[in-house]
Amino acid sequence: MEDGSVDLLRETAREFARGTIRPVVMHHDEAQTFHSEIIPRLAELGFMGAMVPEQYGGTGLSLYEFTVLIEEIAAVDPSVGLTLCAHNGLCLGHITRFASEDQKRTFLPDLCSGRTVGGWGLTEPGSGSDASAMATTATRDGSWWVLNGSKAFITNGSAGSTFVIMAVTGRTDGRPRISAFIVDGDTPGFTRGKSENKLGMRSSDTAMLTFENVRIPFDRLIGAEGDGFSQAMEVLDGGRIGIAALAIGLARGAFEASVRYVKERQQFGRPLASLQAIQWKIADMATGISAARLLTRNAAEIRARGEHVTLAASQAKLFASEIACRTAEEAVQIHGGYGFLKDFPVEKFYRDAKLLTIGEGTSEVQRMIIAKHVLR
Ligand SMILES: Cc1cc2nc3c(=O)[nH]c(=O)nc-3n(C[C@H](O)[C@H](O)[C@H](O)COP(=O)(O)OP(=O)(O)OC[C@H]3O[C@@H](n4cnc5c(N)ncnc54)[C@H](O)[C@@H]3O)c2cc1C
Repeated sequence: MEDGSVDLLRETAREFARGTIRPVVMHHDEAQTFHSEIIPRLAELGFMGAMVPEQYGGTGLSLYEFTVLIEEIAAVDPSVGLTLCAHNGLCLGHITRFASEDQKRTFLPDLCSGRTVGGWGLTEPGSGSDASAMATTATRDGSWWVLNGSKAFITNGSAGSTFVIMAVTGRTDGRPRISAFIVDGDTPGFTRGKSENKLGMRSSDTAMLTFENVRIPFDRLIGAEGDGFSQAMEVLDGGRIGIAALAIGLARGAFEASVRYVKERQQFGRPLASLQAIQWKIADMATGISAARLLTRNAAEIRARGEHVTLAASQAKLFASEIACRTAEEAVQIHGGYGFLKDFPVEKFYRDAKLLTIGEGTSEVQRMIIAKHVLR
């Protein structure tokens, strides 16, 4: 059962998305600029420290409440949803779950207040789906770790100032020991590439990060040396539930625009909504969105109970992201030629949707995870 606080959160996020984000969505998409001006507003609403406990400056939302918030934001602009997912679900999620008390007290208050934006670096130019094949290393030098290598496609890569970075710190029986570090973006030797020029999610900032002898204080290691990969996989379980919510929001945005359009647009002397072929598309879209929402809520509740959530998170992410792509495509189809124009929101939803079957593990990787769980 939902209580009134979830309704209030949904209303607040919806009003903010419609009132503040919607007017500038296409401007930022076309200019491919990061919505830096909304970060303080997101922070005021408590969305920059959404799931962080209040003692560190956060809002203390549950993962389910976070999915409600992300759905509302993504129904208007999936790019802002992606910014929030990387910041909250990945960077802050990693620190909140695994960092020491001192690390939490040092980094979380600024991240929650929006004074700093967070990023999370696992992917590299040579290792994406096969993330453990990473080449970035961190070697011990007295009371420092020295980081060398690069990370590709990092969300909030240019705009961010605090990053959780995974790097190889040694080998055991030939297998890499991967560790996670908190890295300040202004550390000497840390450079960011230009913001990537993208098909969609264009106002979400994506950049390459390069580390050349970046010296990190020893106490920036998160947890134990060698635990970084298992930490990252657990963080991704939560992250994927966030991406599933983003996908639901995107699909809902495309669906709602389609419902409005088919009631207004007349062909053959009657509204499109009266044609059975269109009604069936609308019915399939509505059903897909509801099913994706149930899978996502189920995964969030499993995680909240502290149970193993990898299977449910992958199922939610796989299904919701594919529903988002299908729904956005049908929405363009329903709009006919107007769906191809930037004057209608479905054109952007269609471009943004594709990232969802790729980021935080492709659909193929989700199927591999699901099959592994089902067949073992
Ligand atoms: C906009 C954007 C934002 C991102 N943000 C972040 C971020 O903040 N942090 C971060 O660390 N990463 C981020 N990523 C990276 C993202 O997670 C990777 O792109 C993704 O995991 C896929 O890796 P890859 O691009 O190297 O593709 P590859 O791993 O090279 O895959 C290419 C294709 O091969 C398929 N494939 C690979 N292996 C298998 C297999 N064993 N079986 C079947 N098919 C397979 C894949 O599914 C895919 O279709 C982002 C990416 C994008 C585009």
